[in-house]
Amino acid sequence: MGKLRLRNNGFRTSKQERKLVSIREGQRKRYCEEDHHQDLASKSVHADHSYAVTSKRFVPDISNIVHEEVLDNDGNNLTPTDDWRVGRRVVELDVIADHLQQCKHCGLPLSLHNTINIKTYGLGSVLKVLCTNKSCGNINAIPTGKQHDHKIWDVNTKLALAAIDLGLGEHQINGLLSILNIPTVSHCMIDNRIREVGDVIESVADESMEEWTEKEKEMTRESDGNDNVTVSVDAAWQRRGSGRSYDSLTGHCSMIGLKTGKVINYKWRSKACRICQRAEISGNIPRVHKCNKNFTGSAKAMEPDMVVDMVKESRSKGANITAIIGDEDTTTIARLRAKVDPTIVKLSDSNHMKNPLEIVCMSSKQTFNSIT
Ligand SMILES: [Zn+2]
Ligand SMILES: [Zn+2]
Repeated sequence: MGKLRLRNNGFRTSKQERKLVSIREGQRKRYCEEDHHQDLASKSVHADHSYAVTSKRFVPDISNIVHEEVLDNDGNNLTPTDDWRVGRRVVELDVIADHLQQCKHCGLPLSLHNTINIKTYGLGSVLKVLCTNKSCGNINAIPTGKQHDHKIWDVNTKLALAAIDLGLGEHQINGLLSILNIPTVSHCMIDNRIREVGDVIESVADESMEEWTEKEKEMTRESDGNDNVTVSVDAAWQRRGSGRSYDSLTGHCSMIGLKTGKVINYKWRSKACRICQRAEISGNIPRVHKCNKNFTGSAKAMEPDMVVDMVKESRSKGANITAIIGDEDTTTIARLRAKVDPTIVKLSDSNHMKNPLEIVCMSSKQTFNSIT
């Protein structure tokens, strides 16, 4: 045990004192190094994301925050902002080039350097470009892309299509955009565009189903010599537990022709609608909308309901469905015989009878035949 000495900071042994000094020195060094690394990182981040401030030394410049507004004789705001220089945009070069070709007022070519403002609409934007001719002074609106049906940006519709195709939600889309430093999109915009695209996809699906129903009838006639169409039906739920828990709010079912192997009908059932739910919570009457709620029973009861609906519909359109291939569940065929036709035949699908684990084992056995 060392000798205790009275110092300015209290009683410490010389060993404790040395330890304290070395700890402080270490902390100071680490702090400086960290700051140095942060400085380097912040410089590279700042080059892309102007809002990124990762070091205390990197303070944003706010000296130009107050500036006077410049108005022209007609009261138009000509105060230039640098917003359009920040980050990235999705642009159609062809559209921009055509619009910059000439001023709408005097016909002189425009320059992107004279942009005084930018307005963003989802992924599209409109640049306000001042005419190079000082005596003209016209502010030209330059869109960054094409539009359709009363100013709906093509790029936003395409974004919605990509979201549906890739299964992306608003969070994923905005996550991707913010990393790319492209302005993020609003919930309302993406919702409206998804609805627009959804309607088109539905109409394309209807056309395709009509076409393949005819083909299925034709191929059945050629191979069997009659009009008795056999179809395979299978339902799936948004959520389905490993056991037999059916608590999903939505379910969908497709009907595939045996000869063509193509979908000739599909149906979906939903026990909930967001707009109705929101109105119920707030105690208001829901606004007029295309309601998604089309089912009130249990999730398990969706399958027979959808199959009956599909067989009835396809029969009314001329496809004489006389046999269905499905899983071992007997409710569906019982309901079909009671509600549509008592002579409908049920054929069992061997895939449905196999345990999923058995299927995995069989396929892995084929792939890795040395593993037993
Ligand atoms: Zn001009
Ligand atoms: Zn509703």
